[in-house]
Amino acid sequence: MDLKSKIRNVPDFPVKGIQFKDITTLLKDKDAYRYCIDQITQHCKSLKIDYIAGIEARGFVIGSPVAYNLNVGFLLIRKKGKLPADVERISYQLEYGENTLEIHRDSLKKGDRVMVIDDLLATGGTTLAVFELIEKLNGIVVGADFIIELEMLEGRKKLSGYEIFSLVKYNI
Ligand code: AMP
Repeated sequence: MDLKSKIRNVPDFPVKGIQFKDITTLLKDKDAYRYCIDQITQHCKSLKIDYIAGIEARGFVIGSPVAYNLNVGFLLIRKKGKLPADVERISYQLEYGENTLEIHRDSLKKGDRVMVIDDLLATGGTTLAVFELIEKLNGIVVGADFIIELEMLEGRKKLSGYEIFSLVKYNI
């Protein structure tokens, strides 16, 4: 499946200089969407996983059908102020400014094995912050799965020691 042909590149979004990889064009294609979910499910099947954790918002669209396929539970990693009960929180630096992510504190019990899912791996800062959140709750991070990896930003290096999987790689 030629996934690159399904992904729209939007130059200078959300700020000048960023080549935004828009997956709405992939998601609306039923065959491409199914292919991505099937491939990521297949990758997860070879690993022992208790939960999929999806990062708001595109990580929900990819992660929840994978959790359904694997017959495991789904955890929501949300932006600040969205989760109603007691949360664990982490703030981290973005290229421009700061971001905060939260997870419900009672999401995990010690030793639960979690796979993180998002649409795209860039610098790896977001995923690393989510790994820290899960580890703060005494969960075991198995790794992270993505549709897209921007290889030139070397996010994979930042996440070394974990199982990292992606379906489409860009080098510029
Ligand atoms: P990072 O923390 O640098 O790995 O950035 C990853 C997060 O930012 C993911 O949630 C992506 O959805 C989003 N993101 C970063 N760069 C891009 C890009 N060029 N196109 C689309 N989304 C991006």
